[in-house]
Amino acid sequence: MQDYLKGLNEPQLEAVTHINGPLMIVAGAGSGKTKVLTTRIAHLMAHGIDSFNILALTFTNKAAAEMKERVEKILGNTEARNLYIGTFHSVFARLLRAEAHRLGYPANFTIYDTDDSRSVIKTVVNELNLDDKHYKPNIVGSRISAAKNALMTPAEYALDHFIQQEDMRANRPAIAQIYAAYASRCFKNGAMDFDDLLLKMYEVLKHFPDALHKYQHKFKYIMIDEYQDTNPVQYQIAKLLAAVHENICVVGDDAQSIYSFRGATIENILQFQKDYDDVKVVKLEQNYRSSKNIIHVANEVIRNNKGQIPKNLWTDNAEGDKIRLVRTMTDNDEGRFVADTIQEQKLRNHYLNRDFAILYRTNAQSRSFEESLRRMGIPYRIYGGVSFYQRKEIKDFLAYLRVIINTKDEEALKRIINYPVRGIGKTTIEKCVIIANEQNIPMFDVLTRAAEFGFKAGTLEALQNFVTMIRYFQSLLTEKNAYDVAVQVGKHTNIVKELFNDKTTEGLARYENIQELLNSIKEWIESPANEDGEVGNKSLGAYLQQITLLTDADDDKENSDVVKLMTIHAAKGLEFGCVFVAGVEESLFPSGMAINTREELEEERRLFYVAVTRAKQRLWLTYANSRYRFGQLVQNEPSRFIDEMPEQYIDKSYAGGGARNSTGFDQRFGGFGAAPARKAPVSRQPSKPEYLPPAPPNKVVEHKPSIDFVASDVSALQAGQEVEHQKFGFGRIVAIEGSNHNPIATIQFQLNGEKKIMLNYAKLRIV
Ligand code: ATP
Ligand code: MG
Repeated sequence: MQDYLKGLNEPQLEAVTHINGPLMIVAGAGSGKTKVLTTRIAHLMAHGIDSFNILALTFTNKAAAEMKERVEKILGNTEARNLYIGTFHSVFARLLRAEAHRLGYPANFTIYDTDDSRSVIKTVVNELNLDDKHYKPNIVGSRISAAKNALMTPAEYALDHFIQQEDMRANRPAIAQIYAAYASRCFKNGAMDFDDLLLKMYEVLKHFPDALHKYQHKFKYIMIDEYQDTNPVQYQIAKLLAAVHENICVVGDDAQSIYSFRGATIENILQFQKDYDDVKVVKLEQNYRSSKNIIHVANEVIRNNKGQIPKNLWTDNAEGDKIRLVRTMTDNDEGRFVADTIQEQKLRNHYLNRDFAILYRTNAQSRSFEESLRRMGIPYRIYGGVSFYQRKEIKDFLAYLRVIINTKDEEALKRIINYPVRGIGKTTIEKCVIIANEQNIPMFDVLTRAAEFGFKAGTLEALQNFVTMIRYFQSLLTEKNAYDVAVQVGKHTNIVKELFNDKTTEGLARYENIQELLNSIKEWIESPANEDGEVGNKSLGAYLQQITLLTDADDDKENSDVVKLMTIHAAKGLEFGCVFVAGVEESLFPSGMAINTREELEEERRLFYVAVTRAKQRLWLTYANSRYRFGQLVQNEPSRFIDEMPEQYIDKSYAGGGARNSTGFDQRFGGFGAAPARKAPVSRQPSKPEYLPPAPPNKVVEHKPSIDFVASDVSALQAGQEVEHQKFGFGRIVAIEGSNHNPIATIQFQLNGEKKIMLNYAKLRIV
């Protein structure tokens, strides 16, 4: 037996060595699906199948790169470089360079990202004399995207009775017209958006038999990972390509189907057996990734979904720790708990940063983790999303605050001078920049003296109004704190209102992010002392100073030793030693927007299953009693998924934090922030403290020092003292930092150099 086959279990071996004919692997999480796919590619090549004839479609480009690398390692030659491995989008973008001319596109067609695409939609909407406030580019864009993913042309869209009814009900009857205009504009610009990369590939195969023939014979062996999440276009393309040789191998887990909102349907899995004769089906049930406790919990929770393909996922791995269920008072406490625990685990169990992942349901949740991790000096990286402080809406908002404090900040000024749109066009801005350079004065001074520089009346007025607004904000500085000024900015600029009125998913996310930023400013105001201990200075200037330090992001390289933060969607297919699943609360996870139908709820449960099964050894589920959401302090109950986990696999604990000021501030934007559709329920009582320990708040009960000797009184330690550490020997304390309940000392040891030591766990003695 070849070396690469050793260690595979029986069904894995069966799947890997099945060479010809359709093959479907339906298997649970961590059962080696991706491993089987990779090994099978190597096996095919070892059996003389030309690497040029193999197509493997993965979920991420990273997975593709890893696969190539592993195949190369197994075979010990460079043949793997000829494989077509990648995501649907990346592989088809490559093929379309050679084929797009058939559809009239240039070979060097541009690929529009979502921003580009939205901006084209906006142009088209205006050209059709429609109102882009009503026909919002995001809303229109998602309708068009859905149509493309369902293989629907503009003409078909216009003729589809059901869709027309839907658009009429939403009072947007012209979407069909916009779709047609958008498609022809993209075509004229020689551009394809992301959906086109699939759609145009399909059209090439469908309408050009010679092209279809060519690729059917090129890709004699086709493999698709994460098949449960393919959408109808992807499904159709795969079907066309595989139609002659039928050497198609799909790999999936119906319990991990989490993209139905993008048009993916698990029907694909069920349909596969009908599409081909003689499908070989292999089930993998042994999990190699996770501890027994993790697998038990995952199995028990997913059991609540009706209509799953029955599977019995089991593992030979160690029982492992119980799953830690940790309740905190607030989202900020949740952030602190996670950062503290990472620090503790690194010291106690010798983990590296890269062994940890923090997974959450929505991007907006990353903020409290980012802050705590930065404070503790733990490097991290946000995957599949933009770091909170790097997000456009946050940067725009902070740019206002920067200009208020320092009008010379030209970068910030350029960001906001016409945001939200106030009729100060590109030409005007360019002119301002030129004048500023000629006169050698700050750009803001050009605005204040605009009357001298011959602007048109309308432009002059817009510039003067802008200056007046900034001056007004500045007038608040002496009396108001940072939070009050920020609220005024949100209100007077109309930013919050605009985002609030944007009812798309992205709009909602942006609105939530701004709320989250305001919440964090409020908490900073309410905290007794600044991070450096300075009490009382709550001015905007002081706030910006500390936030500037926070935005000074590290330039993390791929694979560097960092804690990973990502949404659960982005974590699909990945694995980590230690996983925190955060915000396991009703209305957040399951999402409050996805509990209206059984289908929606079951998708949330599958998402929970995906989250839990990312962990190899240790798993924490955290939830906060209260968090600010939608501008309200929301009291949350624990997620129903928690109730679905059998008690015997769970360790419950409480990681406190001070009680927080519960002043709601729904009225802060003059009331519109409190519109019912956006308002999360606040009437519920705090969840029953059924496992609130008798310990006082502010103590992290979870952190019981398990080591026999702890320095008798941590607070007695100070910089300059000589100490003895059980392992590192004699040394001198250089500094003590970290939070009050988790102080960390930097100690210069005589023999072991400088080390950071957590005093709560250190085996330390004052000498
Ligand atoms: P997911 O459902 O999350 O996509 P998966 O089914 O694709 O998971 P893999 O990622 O392929 O699972 O494998 C999970 C882990 O188990 C990997 O670390 C892999 O190397 C390991 N593994 C799989 N099969 C075996 C085996 N036969 N022996 C040892 N380790 C294995
Ligand atoms: Mg996988």
